[in-house]
Amino acid sequence: MKTRTQLIPFLVWTMAMTFSALSSAGDLPDLAALQKMNARLTPVDLSADVSKLPAGERQALLHILQAAKLMDVLFLRQGWAGNESLLLDLIQDRTPLGQERLRAFLLNKGPWSRLDQGRSYLPGIPEKPAQSNYYPAGATKAELEKWMKGLPAKEKEKAEGFFTTVRRSPAGELVLVGYNQEYQPELSLAASYLREAAKWTQSPTLKDFLEKRAESFLSNNYYDSDVAWMKLDASIEPTIGPYETYDDEWFNAKASFEAFITIRDDAETAKLDKYATELQGLENNLPIDPKLKNPKLGALAPLRVVNSIFSSGDGNRGVQTAAFNLPNDDRVVLQMGSKRVMLKNVQEAKFHKVLSPIADVVLSSTDRKRVSFEAFFNHILMHEIMHGLGPQTAFIGGKSLGMRGALQEHYSFIEEAKADIAGLWAMKRFVDQGVADKSLGDTMYVTFLASCFRSLRFGINEAHGKGIALLLNSLLDAGAFQVSPRGKFSVHAEKIPAAVSALTCDLMTLEAHGDKEKAQAYYAKYVHLRPEVQKALDRLIHIPIDIAPRFVTAEKLLAAGK
Ligand code: ZN
Repeated sequence: MKTRTQLIPFLVWTMAMTFSALSSAGDLPDLAALQKMNARLTPVDLSADVSKLPAGERQALLHILQAAKLMDVLFLRQGWAGNESLLLDLIQDRTPLGQERLRAFLLNKGPWSRLDQGRSYLPGIPEKPAQSNYYPAGATKAELEKWMKGLPAKEKEKAEGFFTTVRRSPAGELVLVGYNQEYQPELSLAASYLREAAKWTQSPTLKDFLEKRAESFLSNNYYDSDVAWMKLDASIEPTIGPYETYDDEWFNAKASFEAFITIRDDAETAKLDKYATELQGLENNLPIDPKLKNPKLGALAPLRVVNSIFSSGDGNRGVQTAAFNLPNDDRVVLQMGSKRVMLKNVQEAKFHKVLSPIADVVLSSTDRKRVSFEAFFNHILMHEIMHGLGPQTAFIGGKSLGMRGALQEHYSFIEEAKADIAGLWAMKRFVDQGVADKSLGDTMYVTFLASCFRSLRFGINEAHGKGIALLLNSLLDAGAFQVSPRGKFSVHAEKIPAAVSALTCDLMTLEAHGDKEKAQAYYAKYVHLRPEVQKALDRLIHIPIDIAPRFVTAEKLLAAGK
């Protein structure tokens, strides 16, 4: 369910304290401090080419956008009961401090700073409630647990499910309320927008999704529309509804409303098709014991490359989502797998606003010149693909065992490191074979090196950061990455290909053998910030953490539609 945080570093909003602009718990930021805090998310225009869409599709898009805007309202209400009235107050405060506070509120979708461990930046705000607004304000987690235990099986399933809130009746009893009742006015309106959009589109799969999702908003049953979303094959690729459960810190059960309204990138999608036909060849040539290779790979889970024109709710707060993996309903995943959606223009913005400035600071001047978006983007793609290649189960004493079970707490970071390093290995092979553009051969290693520092800024307390620390430190030890006395990092062109192959082999073999001891040894040796790496990170303090999108294409469409 939580594939987004596990697989995508951009979503991790717990930051190293170095980047915190709030000094201590009781302090409220003044205008200057708040401006500094907000500047960590740097504004950027997000656009996509909609000029080639037929007029009917543009009309459909307009109505989809109107539905998507409603997800902001719902997400605010789900976060905290006080959010909507607080927003109205902030809008009326025309002082410079008031306006900066409004900006902070819109960036964070609430009065708690997501880059500062959820501390409030406004006066008179309580601590962020761990249960958000999914459960009654005065209730405790223990009370909820006890109540759920006593429910009949069917009710219990709903109580633990994605799409219900728990409220208190006038008599003080806990009661279940479906999202379709709890959020009835907004969901009815959203459903009518989606139905209107369905009338305009000429794409049968888009029409089907829109109609079924409208129905879900009213019936509270999302299964059919999740299936329709998996089958989407249209120029407009919308994701809209209740999805992720991060904000329910009590039970990780309740889904937050969000939308990603995107336009499919046909050129990139064609490139993906080309890669997909080469996967068995990659597997057959992995630098590992032939016995560990899979002679017959299954189908690749669907991957879409899109450009975002609008996101809202949980899909647009704090650090921006660059890719996501949905749906979360296990029944759909078992039946059809899940779909990975890559938001290309969001990744582009992150590249230009964050990664490029980082490269200026940490790389040697020759290597700096070779950092490229193509390499950055292709590596993210190959990372996703390589999760599915190489050994997928561990064999211990001849017995097959789940890798997660064998490696336990070390599984996630080893698997993330494997996907990253094998992604580099695969890119080199594609370049050598002429499947990928030759220029990538020159740019991919230096781009990955710069990207290591971008990822490490999100901390090494989650799988992706740990995996990056492992790779960066072991490639430094292998001499494949080097650091100059002035603290500039560079790639050793002769040493890097062999080092990447060796590390790919080591990690895949470790996984195949379920070798927890070796995983532990990797962890102890490599998963920390060495002084030369920490020094480089300290020099990045002036560079934004992430982007704050301005949806210029969507705004234009909405303005023209009025
Ligand atoms: Zn991953």
